[in-house]
Amino acid sequence: MLRWITALLLIALVALGGAWMVAGRVEPPQITIDRPQRVVGHEGSLQVTAAAPGARFTALGIDVEQNGHTTPLFSLDSTGDAKLSQPDADHLRITRPFGKTSVPALRSGPARIVVSASRRSFLNLRTVTGSASRDIQVKLEPPRIEVVSTHHYVNLGGSEMVVYRTTPPGVSSGVRVGQIEYPGFPAAGAGLAGADPSLKIAFFALLYDQDLNTPIVAFARDEAGNEATAPFVDQVFEKPFKKSTIQLEESFLRRVVPEIISHTPELDLQAPANDDELLADFLKENGTLRQQNAEQIRTLASSKTAPTRYWTQPFVQLGNSKVEAAFADHRTYFYKGKEVDQQVHLGFDLAVTSHVPVVAANDGTVLHASWLGIYGNCVIIDHGMGIASLYGHLSSFDVGVGDHVKRGQTIGRSGMTGLAGGDHLHFTILVNGRMVNPVEWWDPHWIADRIDRKLREAGVTGSPTGP
Ligand SMILES: [Zn+2]
Repeated sequence: MLRWITALLLIALVALGGAWMVAGRVEPPQITIDRPQRVVGHEGSLQVTAAAPGARFTALGIDVEQNGHTTPLFSLDSTGDAKLSQPDADHLRITRPFGKTSVPALRSGPARIVVSASRRSFLNLRTVTGSASRDIQVKLEPPRIEVVSTHHYVNLGGSEMVVYRTTPPGVSSGVRVGQIEYPGFPAAGAGLAGADPSLKIAFFALLYDQDLNTPIVAFARDEAGNEATAPFVDQVFEKPFKKSTIQLEESFLRRVVPEIISHTPELDLQAPANDDELLADFLKENGTLRQQNAEQIRTLASSKTAPTRYWTQPFVQLGNSKVEAAFADHRTYFYKGKEVDQQVHLGFDLAVTSHVPVVAANDGTVLHASWLGIYGNCVIIDHGMGIASLYGHLSSFDVGVGDHVKRGQTIGRSGMTGLAGGDHLHFTILVNGRMVNPVEWWDPHWIADRIDRKLREAGVTGSPTGP
């Protein structure tokens, strides 16, 4: 009898041992420190994702270690101001503010983030623990910025330029107008080969629909998110914009609407079967497509600009042209006596005669030379450092993408492709991809005072590098 009991006990022990072994071999929780990657400053956030079946953890702790001190950032019993989420059934994500402001114990210098997570294994017999750590740098010294140029005036819908210095090297900088950032470029790209690398130039704009009191600052920001700003604008001027009405004729809609539909499959419009559909399609082109085109132009012109100022002279206006519409004209559209739409016209409409040669407004590189939504056949030329020009409604092209063009060189012929009532050139200037009033760029006095004077005073002289 005793033998039997002994044998049973032995079998039970072996089974238990086996289960214990199996439990120990179960995968520990997987931990990923999503951020910070390398550095942390005054503000910022920490994000850790931990994986286990059912996202069930018995313990989960995050600490930061620095100079022998350990500061707890998170634990399951003390979540503080951390946010917990579950991207899926098996993952738990912890996000919390992380920087000097939220963790005052942080000091400049190296630090280590340490995470450990535990879970119950097979039959709840054992606890398995996974851990992860990351070495980071705490950077609390903000970069420096100093505005060098003087006399900065901004017209609503217009452009301006600033020269400034930033240190240390490698910080990103530029001008911020409200929420919109305009990147700065090394001043060496504007002509002075020997300009020291801390000297930068930024072109920026106060958009036609921004408030006159929108804050405008030069900024420098390091990879830890530390930022220094400097206000520098002396004065901002209101600019009256015109109001105009446009009577939509059926013959116009019949000509332009189907043409744009055929070029814009992504709008998913059907060929209009009657007048109501014709108008509905037009309104989609005039509204939705106009917005999409603006976005597309912004992305293209801001991402592809060269860090070089390709030009020295004022921009050229289409010769002998009649101005049919100006920048930021507020247009109200009528159809069969009823108001049907309102849009703002962000360019100049210049008319001469049919198929007149259209010239490059200045030296640059062709970024776009094909159909572009409401602008029909459209050329965009990059003039460097965030400045570009746009030519719409062309009937033909004389240039292709990548071509280097000279000021006054023929790039195509005027026409009425896209949303155009008659043969004309739609022209606008872009600053970091955003449409601004071209009048300033055509004005030799404005170029001399706002750009050349500042460059000269900052010691940036000499002729620019050609494209
Ligand atoms: Zn136009």
